[in-house]
Amino acid sequence: MPDIRLIPCLSDNYAVLLKAGDTVVLIDAPEAAPIEAVLEKEGWRLTHILVTHKHADHIDGIPALAAAFKPEIIGPAAEESSIPGLTQTVREGDTVTVGPFKVEVFDTPGHTKGHVVFYFPKEKLLFAGDTMFALGCGRLFEDTPAAMWNSLKKLRALPDDVTVYCGHEYTLSNARFAVTVDPGNEALKARAGEIEAARKAGQPTVPFPLGLEKATSPFLRADDPAVAEGVGRPDAAPEIVFAEVRERKNNF
Ligand code: ZN
Ligand code: FE
Repeated sequence: MPDIRLIPCLSDNYAVLLKAGDTVVLIDAPEAAPIEAVLEKEGWRLTHILVTHKHADHIDGIPALAAAFKPEIIGPAAEESSIPGLTQTVREGDTVTVGPFKVEVFDTPGHTKGHVVFYFPKEKLLFAGDTMFALGCGRLFEDTPAAMWNSLKKLRALPDDVTVYCGHEYTLSNARFAVTVDPGNEALKARAGEIEAARKAGQPTVPFPLGLEKATSPFLRADDPAVAEGVGRPDAAPEIVFAEVRERKNNF
């Protein structure tokens, strides 16, 4: 397995560094300083940046890191004009070679239309950006609930033992919301308790296992009758239930 560092940035963002051999890969660049500090402390030389989407809190660190390290910068083709310095663009179905890593790309429209996520099948790592959060999902700035539901279903189809890294520490609010729409879910209740304790202790809730997310996130379970019932939409189609869950979270 690669060496991994989770790096808190800005107020609630996460960047991640992965190292294997001479390859050092950064996933998203919210700001340069905390990332440079970890690189310096570890004595690592940045070789690649993978970018999930165009929002400022995922790309603002790119120019300084690019100037210092001249890394390959790989990001979504559909957002090429909005992301500085891309050296390679990717889209659904691409497999990119990043040093020793083979990385699969999925288009996950919803939060932005061009958002991509990066899946390392051999290492069983998923970098979900602002598509999927622990017990949550990104706000729908540029696409429909149906589009986001389809994107999340793609991620839900990956194996349970995949480890997920996401772009933000939003988990405590997500957990407090999730129990309101899926109150009978014992696994969710247990997880919510663990999250309260972790945050009280100042610990991150990222990464997390995809299997646990499948069992507990209302955003991945819009086709479960219990969640449909929980949002007052029994018998509604999953994308309608999903839209209701997302709307309720917006107002939570
Ligand atoms: Zn974003
Ligand atoms: Fe973000």
